[in-house]
Amino acid sequence: MSTHTPITVARGDGIGPEITDAVLRILDAAGASLDIEEITIGESVWNAGHPAGITPDCWDSLRRTKVFLKGPVTTPYGKGVKSLNVTVRKSLGLYANVRPVRAYAPFVRTKHPGMDVVVVRENEEDLYAGIEHRQTDEVRQCLKLVSRPGTERIVRYAFEFARSQGRKKVASFVKDNIMKITDGLFTEVFEEVAAEYDDVEKERYIVDIGSALLADRPGMFDVIVTTNLYGDIISDIAAQIAGSVGLAGSANIGDSCAMFEAVHGSAPDIAGQGIANPSGLLNGALLMLRHIGQGDVATKVENAWLKTLEDGVHTGDIYDATVSSERVGTAAFADAVIARLGQEPSTLPKARAGTGAPSLPVLKPRPPQVKKHLGADVFVDWAEGERSPDALAQGLIAAADGVLPLIMISNRGVKVWPDGMPETFCTDHWRCRFQAEEPIDSKKVGVLISRLIDAGFDVIKHEGLCTFDGQPGFSRGQGQ
Ligand code: NAD
Repeated sequence: MSTHTPITVARGDGIGPEITDAVLRILDAAGASLDIEEITIGESVWNAGHPAGITPDCWDSLRRTKVFLKGPVTTPYGKGVKSLNVTVRKSLGLYANVRPVRAYAPFVRTKHPGMDVVVVRENEEDLYAGIEHRQTDEVRQCLKLVSRPGTERIVRYAFEFARSQGRKKVASFVKDNIMKITDGLFTEVFEEVAAEYDDVEKERYIVDIGSALLADRPGMFDVIVTTNLYGDIISDIAAQIAGSVGLAGSANIGDSCAMFEAVHGSAPDIAGQGIANPSGLLNGALLMLRHIGQGDVATKVENAWLKTLEDGVHTGDIYDATVSSERVGTAAFADAVIARLGQEPSTLPKARAGTGAPSLPVLKPRPPQVKKHLGADVFVDWAEGERSPDALAQGLIAAADGVLPLIMISNRGVKVWPDGMPETFCTDHWRCRFQAEEPIDSKKVGVLISRLIDAGFDVIKHEGLCTFDGQPGFSRGQGQ
């Protein structure tokens, strides 16, 4: 029986075929044990009339091998075409985006020599769940969803990744001082999970100051774990300041499947010229080898690649006459790496030796907390007269007719009734809090809403006001 690990490879578009060829040659020469199934995705598939850019047989291959090494694909402009990356990521449940970013000074120009950071970004939730609504003439909303299992999975993955790669610290980056319930959950789970990893240090940063420190002193950081939107921004900042955007690889990890790729795109401007740098995809492939338990091969390839950079054998994108000795094309660069297999860099830090495969997180079951209803925040679209909060409150109280007490109205989160400030600017989007002091039958909320609608209010939506094990599951209005 073969001991080779089955993987699916797509060469992609533009420079994809050239760099994939170079990478596969290097992996083969290094002794990677791979059984490769090739699939075709991207431009030619779109052009053949498949709006997803991928055909059903490709999914069969991905489900079979569960490991996907993907060349960059061109996303055609125009309606009806969906991003293939997003399709694959969402369809296969690839919840963790892992992007290591390193500086290779003095061989690749950077302002931050010594930088060596891995950003682990949650990939499925947060503001990227894509749940957006226009609610009134003036106001639109995007829902930020953060789940406990989704958070536990990404945080555990970050700690498992750190441990398996011999990294020392994991820092969480969120804005829990403002978003106390959503980002607060991330912090709560981070603390719980961190307590199980004695061998890995934990740090917490508010995302704004954390990002500023990352941009200024990236040497402070090791592994960073964060939610989707912050991670999207932070990983680009990190790659940019390292000076190595073109060299970075990334991994998208799920419970059953994983996808590995370069961070850059298909570079149609230089496609077919044989001058593209294969290092981004090679770094993606190194993450893949470690993921499938071939860390020894990854270490060997990484050291040979670092030695090639050190020897000044550079493709045009990083060529610099002051440090480069030879300008080479894609194939010659691959040959240079192959020729150095078994060698190690002498100036740059060596690849981390003995790195194993990160274990995939197993979630700890947790009994659900006891939920009780206290009322609802009812959102109304209202723009009558001078938009006086007092007038709105009178109308609401009359319409509710005692079913639940109105205790607060806010506009864009700022309390405007009772005792609002006349200076507060009000839009046509009002949150009206109807809250009892003791738990209620949630049917009362239905009665309340139908009374408000019967009285002519344009009810946009309601959010339940609930307690969980006695703790409120809702935020207070600013100034409440
Ligand atoms: P790009 O990353 O393809 O190119 C940006 C610049 O960097 C170009 O000048 C290019 O020549 C250069 N470059 C990129 N990779 C290089 C390499 N390996 N060696 C040398 N130079 C390299 O970004 P773009 O031009 O904005 O996008 C081109 C296409 O790629 C678009 O269709 C975009 O949607 C797609 N894209 C795909 C992915 C992916 O598949 N993961 C990611 C980003 C962009």
